[in-house]
Amino acid sequence: MYINVDVQKLNMVKVSVDKKKCIGCGTCVDVCDNFKLVGNVAKPIDSNPAEVGCNEKAAKSCPTKAIKVK
Ligand code: SF4
Repeated sequence: MYINVDVQKLNMVKVSVDKKKCIGCGTCVDVCDNFKLVGNVAKPIDSNPAEVGCNEKAAKSCPTKAIKVK
C-alpha cells in the first residue's frame, strides 16, 4: 500500500513569535541564533527549521510565552 504524504513537511518544525506578546527583551536572541530583533520584536530567522534545535530553549526562556514551536 502506498500512502501519499510529504514526509519532509511532516518532519518540519514551525517556529513563530506572537508579535502582540513580544516585549523585545532579547532573551531568545541570546539563547538561540535562530532569532533576531526587528524593530523591538523578535523574529525567527528560519521559521521552518529541519530540527527543533535551540528554538525550544528560546520558547522556554521567553518571559511572555510569545514563541511557539510546533
Ligand atoms: Fe520577545 Fe520573548 Fe524573544 Fe523576549 S524572549 S524578545 S519577549 S520573543
